[in-house]
Amino acid sequence: MYTVKSYQFAQSLDEACELLQKDSKNTVLGGCCWLKMGHKRIRTAIDLTRLNLSYITESDGKILIGATTTLRELETSPLLQKRFGGILPQCVKNIVGVQFRNIATVGASVFSRYGFSDILTALLALNTSVELHLGGVMTLEKFIELPPQRDILKQIIIADDGRVAAYQSMRNSVTDFPVLAVAVSKLAADWKVSVGARPARAALAQNAAKLLSQGASPEQAGNAAAEELAFGSNMRASAQYRKLLASVLVKRAVQQCREDTSK
Ligand SMILES: Cc1cc2nc3c(=O)[nH]c(=O)nc-3n(C[C@H](O)[C@H](O)[C@H](O)COP(=O)(O)OP(=O)(O)OC[C@H]3O[C@@H](n4cnc5c(N)ncnc54)[C@H](O)[C@@H]3O)c2cc1C
Repeated sequence: MYTVKSYQFAQSLDEACELLQKDSKNTVLGGCCWLKMGHKRIRTAIDLTRLNLSYITESDGKILIGATTTLRELETSPLLQKRFGGILPQCVKNIVGVQFRNIATVGASVFSRYGFSDILTALLALNTSVELHLGGVMTLEKFIELPPQRDILKQIIIADDGRVAAYQSMRNSVTDFPVLAVAVSKLAADWKVSVGARPARAALAQNAAKLLSQGASPEQAGNAAAEELAFGSNMRASAQYRKLLASVLVKRAVQQCREDTSK
């Protein structure tokens, strides 16, 4: 269990960032579901809940998701259910349980770039950017590669471009961390193939996407993704098993995208 010496409701993102920069023991709070698993000694806990960052809106051809939006809000959003084959609501539905998803936040999930993340995997298959208070707007692909930052994620920005998408994951039991997670999307001939929980964090399978844009079969794309990405072993599965799963889950997601496109 973590401990907190003082607790501050930030009145602005400037104030929150200033507090964060002031002391390495000051910590931004999301829903605290992950923090409570550790033993952090927090000097000042920075609460963002009064900054109006809980929203899922459309604006100017983009979908904006505020940092303090909960996973449950993502799951039940009528807007997101109608976009991208509903992969954002789908990708969170096996995360622990409803009470947990009522608390855990999107901002913390993306900022923390967990290897096992379902959300990161799904967002990476879309045209997603993140907006950091200090670092500004950058693509999720670029953000994933950055070293840990002392910054605050303000919102997620997704191009509302009509991509068709599909999500697949494999779990040893229904609410466990994924053994492997896959998201595939398609906009005309442009494909994105994202594979997460390898168990390293989500990455794009560029070669598989290129083959698909040239008309490759779902099976060829699955095999290409399995070949080009690195897989590791942990208590949930071996690297070899994950590699096999990748070829199958990518194949299924591509098939689903093609079927949904022809509807
Ligand atoms: C038991 C358990 C099982 C889980 N299973 C899954 C799973 O199967 N799939 C999956 O995808 N995820 C899973 N997760 C992760 C979960 O979905 C959340 O991503 C995680 O709990 C973090 O969300 P939170 O709001 O609780 O963050 P917190 O615990 O509050 O914070 C986590 C970290 O993010 C930082 N932070 C919070 N908000 C911001 C912000 N706006 N900007 C910058 N930094 C910020 C905090 O300082 C902290 O370092 C699981 C988590 C737990 C505890």
